[in-house]
Amino acid sequence: MSVPVDEKERFARLEEMGLTPLWRLRTRLQPATEAGEAKGAHQESPAVAAPTDQILDTSPQKPAAAAAASSVPARERGERAPRQPPRPSSGPAGKRPDLRPVPATPAAPAVGIPARTVDPERAARIATLDWEALEAEIRACTACPLHRTRAQAVPGVGNRQARWMFVGEGPGREEDRRGEPFVGPAGKLLDAMLFALGLDRTRVYIANAVKCRPPDNRTPTAEEIAVCAPFLFRQIALVRPRVLVALGRPAALALLGEEIKIAQARGRIFRYGDIPVVVTYHPAYLLRNPADKAKAWEDLCRARALVEGEG
Ligand code: SF4
Repeated sequence: MSVPVDEKERFARLEEMGLTPLWRLRTRLQPATEAGEAKGAHQESPAVAAPTDQILDTSPQKPAAAAAASSVPARERGERAPRQPPRPSSGPAGKRPDLRPVPATPAAPAVGIPARTVDPERAARIATLDWEALEAEIRACTACPLHRTRAQAVPGVGNRQARWMFVGEGPGREEDRRGEPFVGPAGKLLDAMLFALGLDRTRVYIANAVKCRPPDNRTPTAEEIAVCAPFLFRQIALVRPRVLVALGRPAALALLGEEIKIAQARGRIFRYGDIPVVVTYHPAYLLRNPADKAKAWEDLCRARALVEGEG
């Protein structure tokens, strides 16, 4: 069921996401059909779909498209030298992504973030915490240098039984001040992205790869992400979402354990344990590169097919 909003607000939010006026009404989204979307998808969909020249393609990127995507200026957050991306689970080109149901209890992730920074005993203990103990531990955490410059730690926000979980990079200035992830301009755009999916913050869970603000909003280091990762992993285990959406490279690093470039990883379905992971651009990047909003919308439609495809 869609979030009830009046038409004026709906139009304003969709325009913010870049979905009007270029995007026009359709009864069903192409990617959902291609990805084996099950019943009821259109019921939660906003009354928008891809423009005729942007029919969504859920197959892995074709070489030409990938080359074009990789030519996007590397101003995206945390863009660094390319490394071998994680192996997609969607198989060779032309095959549909694996949309098998996600088990109620996800398997432990096989992450490869810097092992030297991970304290196994600490990670094992965090893996047993309930929500209240987890958030208390995050707020009191001094495990990495980021605690020295934070105003407060920002654990996460949203529905603890959500089917969708969004993972960002880390708190910015406003998030650090207010104690909530994704507030300010990037948060407003994320809200528009959620709205375009027929969602709002009461229906998703939102967390960051690191819970404390890096000084001057710099990108968190791989070691900081590794030290903070047990908190994120426990949040995922407690939420048990049907899909994880990694917003930007640091989030993808936290979830996948490997450095990837978003432009090259888009269109693939990765896995965190048994949970599918869709990678896309961070809203802050999209604010600087609004032309890529259409790509983010493609990624979100792919994630929606994963959520709803299991039925
Ligand atoms: S960023 Fe994470 S690991 Fe570092 S101090 Fe904050 S909560 Fe602890």
